[in-house]
Amino acid sequence: SKAVVAVVGRPNVGKSTLFNALAGERISIVEDTPGVTRDRIYADVSWLDHEFTMIDTGGIEPDSSDIILSQMREQAQIAIDTADVIIFMTDVRQGLVDADAKVADMLRRSKKPIVLVVNKVDDFDKHVMDSYEFYNLGIGDPHPISAAGKLGFGDMLDAVIAHF
Ligand code: GDP
Ligand code: MG
Repeated sequence: SKAVVAVVGRPNVGKSTLFNALAGERISIVEDTPGVTRDRIYADVSWLDHEFTMIDTGGIEPDSSDIILSQMREQAQIAIDTADVIIFMTDVRQGLVDADAKVADMLRRSKKPIVLVVNKVDDFDKHVMDSYEFYNLGIGDPHPISAAGKLGFGDMLDAVIAHF
């Protein structure tokens, strides 16, 4: 069966933008039992001769840092339970924040393959060095991308399929 790749990260880092860019039209929404887990959105993605299923676990807009962290933990647990590879997305403009470090620790302990992605690197010449601080998360090399500009997808997806 197809490999499953889940995207996890703080609200507004660009998870859904990446998901939509890769998914094209092939998106289906799966509603979870209310109050148990939030809705997940699935899509079929093709990259070179590889096909995989991608899950966007993003949910409602939280309004406090406590809620953000608890939602991220819930997302991460869905990813740990269901994915073969987890894309952990951060935002170069926000920089490295405490919630990133906490969720990275949780993902690292799960022993699942993780691909660390640093989004919103819209101008590689100017901003790629800003992605290096994410090495401090201790979950491997940061892969700079621009989900909106569709930059860096090749190297990121090569890193993902290397785990299949
Ligand atoms: P999510 O909450 O993680 O799913 O984030 P979204 O995909 O909804 O994106 C949050 C905001 O970031 C939106 O305003 C996007 O347009 C913006 N965004 C996403 N990717 C990029 C990017 O590569 N560069 C820039 N500059 N903005 C982006
Ligand atoms: Mg989203």
